[in-house]
Amino acid sequence: MFLDLISEMVKVETRYENANKIAEYLGCSNLIIFINDKEVDAVLPAPGFPATIPMDGRWEQLLLDITQAPIVSSTLPFPNKDSDLSATALSGPDESVAILLGGSPQAEQLRELQAALPILTALFMQEQQRNAAETTRLMAENSAITSHRLATTIDAMRLKLRDALLRQDKDKQAIEELLNKKDEFLNIASHELKTPLTSIKAFNQIMQRIQDPERLQGFVLKSAEQISKLERLISDLLDVTKIHQGQMRYTYRHFDFNVLLSETIESVQYLTPSHEIILLNAPSFIHRGDYFRLEQVLTNFLSNAIKYSPGGKQVLVDCRLENDHVIVSIQDFGIGIPTEQAERLDERYYRGDKLDMRFEGLGLGLFITSEILKRHQGSFWVESKLGVGSTFYFKLPLDKETETSKADFESEHIGF
Ligand code: ADP
Repeated sequence: MFLDLISEMVKVETRYENANKIAEYLGCSNLIIFINDKEVDAVLPAPGFPATIPMDGRWEQLLLDITQAPIVSSTLPFPNKDSDLSATALSGPDESVAILLGGSPQAEQLRELQAALPILTALFMQEQQRNAAETTRLMAENSAITSHRLATTIDAMRLKLRDALLRQDKDKQAIEELLNKKDEFLNIASHELKTPLTSIKAFNQIMQRIQDPERLQGFVLKSAEQISKLERLISDLLDVTKIHQGQMRYTYRHFDFNVLLSETIESVQYLTPSHEIILLNAPSFIHRGDYFRLEQVLTNFLSNAIKYSPGGKQVLVDCRLENDHVIVSIQDFGIGIPTEQAERLDERYYRGDKLDMRFEGLGLGLFITSEILKRHQGSFWVESKLGVGSTFYFKLPLDKETETSKADFESEHIGF
């Protein structure tokens, strides 16, 4: 019976209950087993016993005394007991296990318990070893998980670093490309500015020597042509800076669209004897926008149409109203544009392939045009055939209040 109870101590879940049965068998009120954990240098209740035994200094003293003698006794407070009980403590072999009994057992039973002590000690030592092994296994498992996580983090960091390095490389390349483009642009710009200046200088020298008023008039006109070219180049450069800094100012007002078309054509035609600019259709309607900037848009398309059709004789301008938009087309019979280039026309500094380098220009006109149209909620596109010619279209939304605003316009803008 006693040995059965001892062997039942294997079960941790019922250990405390079973210990009380042993205590009863021994004629005692309590039985608590302590383990002397040498690793942490502490005497603690064995697994299965309440961890919070109300220990005071006397308990500690008893547990200390037990390391000096195999049996010691004292008076102690036991869990769930109203008053202190006399207590007997026994220590197992190697002082690994201590048994505390509430009360004083009979000498015979005490001997019985002493005899069973090696079994109990072996049982708890084995259990402790198993627990230690389990703890080690768990620690190993945890550190495996941790090192796996670490490896994953390091991998992710390595990928991020590689991406950042690649990006840095790409950024560097992009900056270099931009700087090259800028250098190239400065070269072109100085060349483009110098050409009309040289002509003006030469015309001036000739004019100083000429007496014939008719010939003089011819050079005055040629000079004026170069001066306006110079003016356009400089104002394009200033406009790009303004666009870049977001400082392009717009003044919106109502005007007759027909007037915009005919006046712009007239001033371009004035400086262009080589081509005839024909306005095919121009409905009269009131539009709201920046007159000066839209004139600039049309001038750009017309100048390009003339410039890129050196063998052409005509430029056709058409205007039609379609749904909520006005669409203007400018058609030339010139060199045309390859399809792959047509998509890049609104880029800053974009110029056609090297063939076009025989034409003057900074590659800014269409970029500025596209920005002005965007500010008017408009856009442009091109239809072109290489060697046959190009038709540029631009489109602007119609002023919703056109009809009512026409009356205001007439009273507000008399004489415009
Ligand atoms: P630029 O004329 O000063 O080069 P633009 O921005 O006005 O600059 O035009 C950009 C490019 O578009 C030109 O270099 C040219 O290759 C092409 N392009 C523009 N208009 C025409 C046109 N009417 N016919 C053929 N190519 C054109």
